[in-house]
Amino acid sequence: TLDVAAAHAWLADFAARVHANVDLLTDLDRQIGDADHGANMDRGMRAVAALLVQDFADAAALLKKAGMTLVSTVGGASGPLYGTFFLRLAAALPDGAPGSPGVDARAFGAALRAGYDGVVARGKAQEGDKTMLDALAPALRAYDEAVGRGAAAAFEAATAAANAGRDATIPLVARKGRASYLGERSVGHQDPGATSAALLLESAAATLG
Ligand code: ADP
Ligand code: MG
Ligand code: MG
Repeated sequence: TLDVAAAHAWLADFAARVHANVDLLTDLDRQIGDADHGANMDRGMRAVAALLVQDFADAAALLKKAGMTLVSTVGGASGPLYGTFFLRLAAALPDGAPGSPGVDARAFGAALRAGYDGVVARGKAQEGDKTMLDALAPALRAYDEAVGRGAAAAFEAATAAANAGRDATIPLVARKGRASYLGERSVGHQDPGATSAALLLESAAATLG
């Protein structure tokens, strides 16, 4: 179940994974963007990690604050998009008083879907445009398919699908964001945002399963 402790662990793990991969994310963005995706995500997730000393009433309150923090601390496309993801996810979670049992795996899947829909609405991209959506969309499909076998199975399936979706961005032509300015020259490079999104699923599998 997703309670405030689980949400805390998820965000802390994601901040650590982003930090460990900051050079990879920057190098990928150097090839088809402006070489700041690692710095952008690391700045944002450091600010989120700094929130974790506070007490939050429930997972939704923490994830909402994380979303607001990403929007306000990250310049660039990824901050508002990841921020929207967490804000919409938080808004879709059922209310929980302190000590309440948290959110079950199906409800969490629906909230992830709401977060994804928020990114689509904000960024106007679709699957296949060589963005973070190419990791998130297959991950959510895999999650829904596996959720009947429990949260751990769902997150494991989602992570495998996110990683495959990330790898499948390599041959795509970018149609949204800075990489789209390169047109056909974006082919042959892995999308930085799909790479960070796959890390988000890895963190979920490590902490929420
Ligand atoms: P910027 O491009 O402003 O420098 P970042 O480098 O931090 O921002 O993030 C780039 C990533 O953001 C891309 O690799 C892509 O995955 C994602 N992205 C860009 N535009 C969109 C969009 N409209 N919808 C979804 N994701 C997007
Ligand atoms: Mg960039
Ligand atoms: Mg930039």
